[in-house]
Amino acid sequence: MQQVDFFVIGAGIAGLSAAARLARHGKTMVCEAEEAPGVHSSGRSAAFAHFDMDGWLVRALTAASIPLLDAPGARPHPALFLALEQQEQALDRLESAYREWSPHVRRLSVAEAQEQVPILREGDGGIVGALFDRHGRKLDAHTLLETHRKALIAAGGSLTFKAPVISLGHDGNRWIVDTPGASYAARIVVNAAGAWVDEVAVLGSVAPVGIRPLRRTVITFDTDIDVSGWPFTKTVGPGFYIEPEGSHRLLASPMDEGESTPGDAQPEEEDVALAAWRVEQATTLTIPRLASKWAGLRSFTPDRLPICGFDLQAPGFFWLAGQGGFGLQTSPAMALAAEALATNGEWPDELRAVGVGPSNLSLDRLA
Ligand SMILES: Cc1cc2nc3c(=O)[nH]c(=O)nc-3n(C[C@H](O)[C@H](O)[C@H](O)COP(=O)(O)OP(=O)(O)OC[C@H]3O[C@@H](n4cnc5c(N)ncnc54)[C@H](O)[C@@H]3O)c2cc1C
Repeated sequence: MQQVDFFVIGAGIAGLSAAARLARHGKTMVCEAEEAPGVHSSGRSAAFAHFDMDGWLVRALTAASIPLLDAPGARPHPALFLALEQQEQALDRLESAYREWSPHVRRLSVAEAQEQVPILREGDGGIVGALFDRHGRKLDAHTLLETHRKALIAAGGSLTFKAPVISLGHDGNRWIVDTPGASYAARIVVNAAGAWVDEVAVLGSVAPVGIRPLRRTVITFDTDIDVSGWPFTKTVGPGFYIEPEGSHRLLASPMDEGESTPGDAQPEEEDVALAAWRVEQATTLTIPRLASKWAGLRSFTPDRLPICGFDLQAPGFFWLAGQGGFGLQTSPAMALAAEALATNGEWPDELRAVGVGPSNLSLDRLA
């Protein structure tokens, strides 16, 4: 049986980014059920960092993370937020939230928004207002994952694939973890299993937190227009987002939240149709055929805010979960928090600066 200090379950962005930091403090093993990192949510994301997110905590974690999201995992890319009819107040609220974190944000008239994205239609299902942030960040999930994988290995950590945790128990001293090919004794288990975190908890006889995996659908389609200079463009309420994928391809989502269970999420036909319809309603585009479609799970705690910290009842069982639709853009801050809390270290200045303390992320919140 291999002895480790930190046994991290899940090689998505949460598990890998935290493991890369923990490996500096002790022997660290990451085990992943799939044959590569990021097969589930992390590899299916729209991969954009912005502040149109529910809750102060998510925006604060995003603000702490953005300076740490550097090339090649992130590059500057503007964001445009749209108000459809009845969404003007939501645009006002977003503008005030934005001013706290990204003061360069600017209100645009419909005509100015159309200069950025010429296909936008005005009124009657189209847009009535817009907000522009030239300081957004386009992320590259695979590069981020690869950077963390290399940092983990460089710090002496290990990573194993096709290794689902199938049994988990505490012997009074250490966590005993079994995968089909190997067994481990770990001082600390980090539960970063995304949509599966509650299933992992139950395996270890730890009470679940009530994670809700919600399915989100993405389509891509080709256009005749060069879209490479367009911003990430998103409605502030129900609607859609689009973002360029190269010069003549757009990615779109209807921002759906279909109830789901942990698993390999697949797009439902009605959500695919909804994505195309919502884009066509608000723009001059028609989408005769799709280039691709997929779905992924965004997993939320009951209050839709992330958790990072030890379980209150199970010593050595560490939760890193509930990253919802913001897991990439908050990963640097969450990894810093996980490092500090799991090693009993100093609370990071980056988090202190945005007013986030351990209690904001603690499971106490959900008790
Ligand atoms: C369509 C879509 C768009 C999104 N857009 C954005 C965006 O623009 N910006 C942003 O910041 N975020 C976005 N997100 C959210 C982001 O992708 C997630 O918050 C993030 O990927 C969650 O990372 P994770 O590591 O917790 O989960 P995952 O990436 O799902 O990783 C968990 C891993 O745990 C593994 N695992 C599970 N059970 C076990 C077990 N028993 N043993 C071993 N391994 C196990 C799984 O195989 C999986 O690889 C989006 C998500 C979706 C679906």
